[in-house]
Amino acid sequence: MMTAYFDNASTTPVDPRVIDKMRACLGADGTFGNPASTTHGLGWMASEEVEWARSTVAKTIGADPREIVWTSGATESDNLAIRGVLEAMSEATGRNKIITMETEHKAVLDTCAHLRGAEVIYLKPKADGQLCLDSLASLIDETVLLVSVMLVNNETGVVQPIAKIAKMAHDIGALLHSDLAQSVGKLDWTVDSLGIDLGSLSAHKAHGPKGIGALYVRRGSCRVAEQQHGGHHERGMRSGTLPTHQIVGMAEAYRIAQTESAAEIDYLNRLRDRIESAIDELGGIRCNGARGVPHILNITVDGIDAERLMAAMPTIAVSTGSACNSATIEPSHVLQAMGLTRKQGLSSLRISLGRMTTDDEVSMLIHSLTKTVSQLRSAA
Ligand SMILES: *Cc1c(COP(=O)(O)O)cnc(C)c1O
Repeated sequence: MMTAYFDNASTTPVDPRVIDKMRACLGADGTFGNPASTTHGLGWMASEEVEWARSTVAKTIGADPREIVWTSGATESDNLAIRGVLEAMSEATGRNKIITMETEHKAVLDTCAHLRGAEVIYLKPKADGQLCLDSLASLIDETVLLVSVMLVNNETGVVQPIAKIAKMAHDIGALLHSDLAQSVGKLDWTVDSLGIDLGSLSAHKAHGPKGIGALYVRRGSCRVAEQQHGGHHERGMRSGTLPTHQIVGMAEAYRIAQTESAAEIDYLNRLRDRIESAIDELGGIRCNGARGVPHILNITVDGIDAERLMAAMPTIAVSTGSACNSATIEPSHVLQAMGLTRKQGLSSLRISLGRMTTDDEVSMLIHSLTKTVSQLRSAA
């Protein structure tokens, strides 16, 4: 049974061009050496691959290669940014406050919840999911060390006004961290156009492999204390043998994402328009959040439970932002923060597109959604 895949915000299939690049770094006839081995050619070759990748990822986001720290993904990057800056800088600056939003990814929220010696303020978004600059202005002061706000929300696709937030943070001497996991190839930005000091990146949301990411750390503006100790790799910010195949895979994925982004955004917008017109025709469905990136669409189907809807469409892979605890299902914290009721939250679905999404898959989605919603409505 063919599955139509609409869960690209949770992960994407790896581009075949990326797989080819990765394969060449694994076997005895390839670049398998330890990039930290300085005593023989196999180490030097691996190190050259890693540095090509560092320059490539840096170029994609408008950074200097020395500002890229390899990590295992955006979760680790979020942890390293927030914990690392707090540890390295709070004593020297006398600042211990962090401002973030209720709609952040759990990698930011859970990290903040476990901090010791910091005060964390969680901002509620406006109903459209965006940060209210006035409420930030009323809360930010000289005790704030770090503001952490994501560029693209992974559940709604809402884009935050990061350049404005960065300016407000800098005006008061605070740093800005942004989770950029959903942003590569889907929006036009650089670290300078955003004005960020720290940025979390992940490969597998952009057709690269899982288990690899990076933290962008602006030179001269901040210090980050290592959270994983070992061989003092990555200029003392993150230890561990560098996985050449993963790193090269991430770089190739980012290179392709950047080279093809204009065409890809057009393509994704066209597919999304097809889905949106079908939804309009069905009626009783609302789109959540201000329109942001082309590839993420979050909808609430009035009066229909999302779990039932998904169960009735087994060949369509979509998702809810809900967290399943042992006994109950909790609606998405993002939608709740935007003011949706519990019931509306439990009637909400995320549809996310990617490079491999086809028109046929979109037709399958529209057909299944139309049929299932009508059936469940007439049964109600
Ligand atoms: C997927 C995602 C993460 C987690 O990234 P990993 O590389 O899987 O650790 C963090 N933040 C956002 C916004 C994401 O979409």
